[in-house]
Amino acid sequence: MLPKILVSACLLGSPVRYNGSAKTVAHALLDQWQREGRLVPVCPEVAGGFGVPRPPAEIAAAACGAAVLAGTARVIDVRGMDVTSHFVDGAQAALELALAHDCRFALLTDASPSCGSHAIYDGSFAGRKHAGAGVTTALLRQHGIEVFAETEIDALEARLARFNAQARVSRTRP
Ligand code: SF4
Repeated sequence: MLPKILVSACLLGSPVRYNGSAKTVAHALLDQWQREGRLVPVCPEVAGGFGVPRPPAEIAAAACGAAVLAGTARVIDVRGMDVTSHFVDGAQAALELALAHDCRFALLTDASPSCGSHAIYDGSFAGRKHAGAGVTTALLRQHGIEVFAETEIDALEARLARFNAQARVSRTRP
């Protein structure tokens, strides 16, 4: 069976971002995977209890998602409200969904405090990013799920091809 992929719902056109917009990605592979029934959409922030729209939030003090999960960093919204628990709840919901569908891979929206995988905003709300991952990405990675950004769809396809080849080899071994 072809592996399923957890996907940020906003990449598939759902208008669930903080400002009520989507971040739709047009890519033939995404269309193909969707036709094959292999995509499992999730918005961790909505799953964590946020509405749409909602105030923008960032991980404070240039920390990363792993620090939030470890309890040593907070997520704050632009009003200064501590919204950490919603982000952790949303990450947990995304993980449970991924595990329920046996997703080994995820394609998530980069720069988000939940879904970022390469860069996230630094908590200053000044548009500054730094290298790091969001809360959901960190939790997925802690459970062995490989996370790719929306700019890495071709790299994900290459990884899936290697994964499928390895699975075929292990099936034919006596
Ligand atoms: S939490 Fe993830 S899926 Fe939801 S709007 Fe933000 S980037 Fe998209």
